[in-house]
Amino acid sequence: MAIPGEVFQKYRLAGKIAREVREEMRRTVREGMPIIDICEKAESLIRKKGGKPAFPCNVSVNEIAAHYTSPPQDKRTVPENSIVKIDIGVHVDGYIADTAVTVCFNPEYDDLADTAEEALKKAVEILQPGLSLSRFGSTIQKTIKTRGFKPVSNLTGHLIGRYLIHAGKSLPNVFHVSTSRVKEGEIYGVEPFTTVAKAAGRVENGEEAHIFRYLKHKSLKDPYAKRLLNHIRKNFQTLPFTERWLQGCVPPSSYETAFSGLLSSKALMSYPVFVEASRKPVAQAEHTILVVKDGCKVLT
Ligand code: MN
Ligand code: MN
Repeated sequence: MAIPGEVFQKYRLAGKIAREVREEMRRTVREGMPIIDICEKAESLIRKKGGKPAFPCNVSVNEIAAHYTSPPQDKRTVPENSIVKIDIGVHVDGYIADTAVTVCFNPEYDDLADTAEEALKKAVEILQPGLSLSRFGSTIQKTIKTRGFKPVSNLTGHLIGRYLIHAGKSLPNVFHVSTSRVKEGEIYGVEPFTTVAKAAGRVENGEEAHIFRYLKHKSLKDPYAKRLLNHIRKNFQTLPFTERWLQGCVPPSSYETAFSGLLSSKALMSYPVFVEASRKPVAQAEHTILVVKDGCKVLT
């Protein structure tokens, strides 16, 4: 089924903003740049253009495949000779566009990044109603292997829903036994991740987590924890957020206790950074697409 016109317009606007911000960030990022400046610039550009961040801007360096965003007062900078994934999410009234680009400061990784782009191009070519997810995964895997690289097997694209980044269905980047098929009117974040042939080709959870989301209501004794949770529900709903966006919400001296209380009560969940298991460099390319009658339309 096709999506209603007014919903499509919101997706189209979210997609346009995401594309413009991605391209601006691609041009801006430099070695030595503070990562927090990259995150804040991307997020403020999204707002300036009339969207809202659907999740904190991810800036993931080298073997970190995804889910790094700056914590408050982050001191980290873009290392020399690095490979950097910038992943941007925009929503308009809950309708999300999700897009990413890889910026290389080491010519040795150029082919790795190009291969992620090639795999994404292939995905856009083949996505259409009725395509099986097994077929999709094996085609992406083959595209990447043919160029001498390896897909990251446990990172996938995903169906997108209103206020939901991952709406249940996954688009695998490797062969995967599945009877599920792509349907008209579905919106997907399509995101092949590539790594080098000798890598493990999968990610594991790292030690840190700087991205969180609301999980469920809890009755809390700490009034500041309560205030924080209300703020989170009201402003981000079920979308991921970062602690940088909570500054000033409660007195600084009460913040740490309140926030850790929300985590330990499981009112919130955290997204740990994803690290390539053999610590090899990873590249990513991502578009958000709408499945239409005879193929797909790239929104980003
Ligand atoms: Mn993304
Ligand atoms: Mn995504």
